[in-house]
Amino acid sequence: MINIFNYDYQYGLNAISSIDLFLFSLIFLCIGSFASSTIYRLSLIFSEDNPNTNLLFPRSFCPNCKTTIKLIYLIPLAGYLIQKGKCNSCRSNISIFYPLTEIFFLFVGLVALNAYGISIFLYFLIFITYLFYVLFYLDLKFYYLPLSINLLLVITGFISNVFFNMFIDDLNYLFNLNSIQFSSLGFLIGYSSLWLVNFVFKTIYKKDGIGGGDFVLFGAIGSMFGPFSLGLILFLGATIGCTLFLFLNKAFTKEIPLGSCLILGTVFYIFIKKYELLSMFIVI
Ligand SMILES: [Zn+2]
Repeated sequence: MINIFNYDYQYGLNAISSIDLFLFSLIFLCIGSFASSTIYRLSLIFSEDNPNTNLLFPRSFCPNCKTTIKLIYLIPLAGYLIQKGKCNSCRSNISIFYPLTEIFFLFVGLVALNAYGISIFLYFLIFITYLFYVLFYLDLKFYYLPLSINLLLVITGFISNVFFNMFIDDLNYLFNLNSIQFSSLGFLIGYSSLWLVNFVFKTIYKKDGIGGGDFVLFGAIGSMFGPFSLGLILFLGATIGCTLFLFLNKAFTKEIPLGSCLILGTVFYIFIKKYELLSMFIVI
């Protein structure tokens, strides 16, 4: 069965017409712009600075002078360049985070387009990148993993596997799991393993060691990549977490953003699976 690890698309970007390439690049930039706006708005809701904000209303405004931003300046990258990185009303600097996020999504989008062409896998990968990016940043900065984004990730995990077999690899067929069992077991094992670690920690130290958002996130990763992926992803995530703690212990003295580490671990996992980096160590 075809999945994202063995899908063989050989034509690359050459097979895509220049009009499509232009339109897709524009869409990727817009998704990047939407991602930074999602992050900004969710952080406002989280810090209760402005609880009336939602993802679409009010229209985008300058964080400093609160002036509504003109439509022309909302065009990804171009808006930033036309304004030369400064708000048009109050001249305060616009964070470089906005254009960088847009460029990041353009880059990931083009890599995915090159690897998968215009296919359902491309759409899923871009959407998953969007969800992961928002969670990664919010956890890194605020230790906050919004339930709404986590749940979208769980639903995406189930739909991508049950209808499109997206992440179900051959190892899974050895155990005769169907796609619903694959995603459900992944979710349950992911969620309950971190819950259990926290339960033991709480019994000993009388406080939470891991946040509830991390359980759901690891469950969501399980619903996507299945039960057999979780050990390696947790190992990679924990290694990244320990490295952060050792080398950046000024920035993370009290808490490690476990969610961000798990997301990075998952990204490494995808590369390991896609390019069979572990095959020299494991003989199946
Ligand atoms: Zn301003």
